[in-house]
Amino acid sequence: MEATLRPQAVFFVGAPGSGKDTQAGLLIEEFGFIQVPSSKLILAKFAANPDDPVIREEKRKFDTGELNSGPFVAEIMMEFVRPVAAQGKGLIFSGSPRTVFEAEIEVPEMVKVYGADSVLVINLVIPDEVASSRIATRRLCRAHNHPIPATPEFASLTTCPKDGSELYVRELDDPSKTGTRFSEYRKLTEPTLNTFRANGVPIFAIDASQSIQAIHQEVVGALERRTTPAPRQ
Ligand SMILES: [Zn+2]
Repeated sequence: MEATLRPQAVFFVGAPGSGKDTQAGLLIEEFGFIQVPSSKLILAKFAANPDDPVIREEKRKFDTGELNSGPFVAEIMMEFVRPVAAQGKGLIFSGSPRTVFEAEIEVPEMVKVYGADSVLVINLVIPDEVASSRIATRRLCRAHNHPIPATPEFASLTTCPKDGSELYVRELDDPSKTGTRFSEYRKLTEPTLNTFRANGVPIFAIDASQSIQAIHQEVVGALERRTTPAPRQ
């Protein structure tokens, strides 16, 4: 049975390897949130206009682990978000905003659509060395990009437990690109937390070096606190 939570927009913010997609997947299964498929939307844009010079430059950045430009990503995200939000469904962001520029467009839009008390940030906090060892060994499935975490319980899997498709390591996850991704995160993405604060969005910091289930319990706790009316005085 699907549990219910009031529709809200949940932003996962954390360094590469902090488990954003894993935690997003658990919320989707349990509560029926709609995930904003940032990477998939960007890849679809690349595929639709392969010869456009702007698109080619954005694709080069994507393939080398650099961040895409803010206006490019923000426009793609909002095209997806507006119709879903209009249906009153909960949304999860696990790959956007990546820059303050994107955040300055997306966050006020989300506050406008969902209301200030129904937007929150889950900040998954993890030491760089723990995250980079996870990244080097995690896999995704070919059919749906289901994340297969680099934890012992999944080590012997050779196909996706949900759809049976082949597993692969993303080119983006090549260890030679990890350093760039961490420094880009610290320099460009972490400052988006200030944009959320400036828009009155609460931030729940969770220790992401814990087990998947322990993190999930804290995530659900954060969402439930947001859905429980404050006791009357
Ligand atoms: Zn799968």
